[in-house]
Amino acid sequence: MALSNIRIVLVRPTHPGNVGATARAMKNMSLHNLYLVAPKDCPSPEATDRAVGADDVLHSAIICPSLDEAIKDCHLVIGTSARQRRIEWPTLDPAGGAARLIEGARHGPVALLFGQERTGLLNSELDRCHLMLSIPADKNYSSLNLASAVQIFAYEIYQAHLAETDRDSDAVFAAQSNLASHEDLQGLYRHLEQVLMQIGFLDPENPRYLMRRLMRLFNRSGLDQNELNILRGILTSVQQQSKINLDKNSQE
Ligand code: SAH
Repeated sequence: MALSNIRIVLVRPTHPGNVGATARAMKNMSLHNLYLVAPKDCPSPEATDRAVGADDVLHSAIICPSLDEAIKDCHLVIGTSARQRRIEWPTLDPAGGAARLIEGARHGPVALLFGQERTGLLNSELDRCHLMLSIPADKNYSSLNLASAVQIFAYEIYQAHLAETDRDSDAVFAAQSNLASHEDLQGLYRHLEQVLMQIGFLDPENPRYLMRRLMRLFNRSGLDQNELNILRGILTSVQQQSKINLDKNSQE
């Protein structure tokens, strides 16, 4: 859902090859909404050649006469630039920008703008942006090829999307898996402490940080109710076993 709300906007691109390569870079990363603002030479066989299998993205590109037209329904507009401008725009790196785009895309359409090959985005175009993204690069040669820049941002967007999907499935898993409650865990820790003292592993006179370390270990693993019951069962068996041994020893 988030990815389908993200649009890549090429502003006044002049080389059809870059437009085709952009379509390919996008499709590799599951992005499909390409907007072209006043492109030169479009459509073009060179663009189709460079799209290699991403012609669907290329052919469904929306061509707009102006930037305002391309972003009119977007609630978040982010620009990209290699150059340090005289007026400071809030600037993020690609990963930070991708996270903002994914977050924004949950609420509606968002746009990522790329400038013309020679001039980049004009200040009047940057005025439409809420923030700027820049790919850190050699300070004497920081300007990437247009489609290469799209590829880097598209990759970061896809990574941010995957991370979010993982978080969502973790949350579903946690909700389904009946995690042990705080109270149950405290019960386990008390039981464990008691057993460790009974078997002489924990010296109450000199406990060090043993219990704290063990608690940290169990807290990290996110025990569910079944796992907790197994551990409690093991502790009870250890107690029974050591009682049997004690009784045996006292009879001898
Ligand atoms: N001389 C222009 C270069 C334009 S390159 C300039 O300095 O802006 C074409 C487009 O690719 C840029 O407008 C930008 O959208 C993107 N791009 C190229 N290098 C980039 C970088 N290091 N960081 C972010 N975007 C970059």
